[in-house]
Amino acid sequence: MRKSTVAIVGRPNVGKSTIFNRLVGERISIVEDVPGVTRDRIYSQAEWLTTSFNLIDTGGIELGDEPLLVQMREQADVAIQEADVIIFIVNGREGITAADEEVAKILYKSNKPVVLAVNKVDNPEMRESVYEFYSLGFGEPYPISGTHGLGLGDMLDAVIGHFPTLETEEKDLDTIYFSLIGRPNVGKSSLVNAILNEERVIVSNIAGTTRDAIDTPFKRDDQDYVIIDTAGMRKRGKIYESTERYSILRALKAIERSDVVLTLIDAEEGIIEQDKKIAGYAHQAGKAIVIVVNKWDTVESDEKAMKAFEEKVRVHFPFLDYAPIVFLSALTKKRTHKLIPEVKKVSENHAIRVETNVLNDVIMDAVAMNPTPTMNGKRLKILYATQVAVKPPAFVVFVNDPELMHFSYERFLENRIRDAFGFEGTPIKIFARRRS
Ligand code: GDP
Ligand code: GDP
Repeated sequence: MRKSTVAIVGRPNVGKSTIFNRLVGERISIVEDVPGVTRDRIYSQAEWLTTSFNLIDTGGIELGDEPLLVQMREQADVAIQEADVIIFIVNGREGITAADEEVAKILYKSNKPVVLAVNKVDNPEMRESVYEFYSLGFGEPYPISGTHGLGLGDMLDAVIGHFPTLETEEKDLDTIYFSLIGRPNVGKSSLVNAILNEERVIVSNIAGTTRDAIDTPFKRDDQDYVIIDTAGMRKRGKIYESTERYSILRALKAIERSDVVLTLIDAEEGIIEQDKKIAGYAHQAGKAIVIVVNKWDTVESDEKAMKAFEEKVRVHFPFLDYAPIVFLSALTKKRTHKLIPEVKKVSENHAIRVETNVLNDVIMDAVAMNPTPTMNGKRLKILYATQVAVKPPAFVVFVNDPELMHFSYERFLENRIRDAFGFEGTPIKIFARRRS
């Protein structure tokens, strides 16, 4: 089923990123007492009861130094374009401001459902303050407190009540969905074309095109694939806007629908900060990953150069130490044939399920090799472990006290599990749970 998308809008400092963090359930954005701070993350998945949805913090969409009003207008536009439901946040401590009215005016013109949330209502005595907001014309205002986590349930009930029903976009479980990410000009479109033009690839038909990407199914060696292409979309001018700021959002949606993400790096230009940020999204989303060093035709391409570049990649992307690296040229097609087998391999690793008894043998061997840590005289005891999910593989380790599970020990266990089962190309997750 296609997930619905919810966007948070509102003028700076009303608490958008605070609420975003609350709804996403982790502290992942930066909240500071400075209006307009940049966020780490603007897009994530959230859940309420049994419904999961995509959440966008439009306040985090970077627009350079345009005037405030222009920025707000742009952010509201993004919300209207991308979202099924919009949460409009105002500040209950300040009342209605001219900027709120400005946002409201833009939202009136869309046909998207809007849920009005009055934030910073930190205690019941303040609930009176919400009434003035009826005049914004979005029906009942929901009093909430982002910092205290109050009122969010009622607000979310209203949000989910507006979700469109009868959505269909079934994913075929036997098909490997993959996408290409990377900064502009890294060669995404060229590589998509190279892959699809390879002679052994038979493109069945161009189908399933969403507003954000073009999905092209193809078959190779009896395996079905779908390539999710967001870059070509922009070039074909089929989207509502061709500006870069929407491309991140589109890439994030593509990542979410993918099993495997190819992270492209430009060998000619080298690695820059933006590359790491983009790759970080794929890692956080728990997708299988292949690092692709493109434009390898432009550099001296002997073994030594390759080793040196590989080392550079490992230094710049320590969080992707599990991802294989493929050096190729989308232009000359050199080594592009190596890519699809790699996609298949990491996709299989992404879905590995290991047997509980074998897993526990590995864990117990690991503990024998490197004793568990102690804290305040108390030693971590590992009782047993079990795999609880695939894509990515996730493991629960039952222990006497989860507080005793240090990051470094968790990392050690992860490496032992990797050594034993070969999870090349996939992140794995480990959770410590109490069991007495
Ligand atoms: P944004 O610019 O709209 O994303 O706003 P932020 O999430 O960065 O929050 C702006 C400021 O308001 C921060 O100092 C937050 O701590 C504060 N804030 C957010 N939610 C609440 C709330 O429910 N109550 C109170 N008292 N302060 C809040
Ligand atoms: P995108 O913005 O990531 O989709 O990048 P494009 O596929 O449009 O490529 C950007 C530019 O890089 C174009 O001029 C391509 O011809 C060039 N390019 C792409 N792949 C290669 C490559 O492997 N080698 C060289 N030398 N140029 C490439």
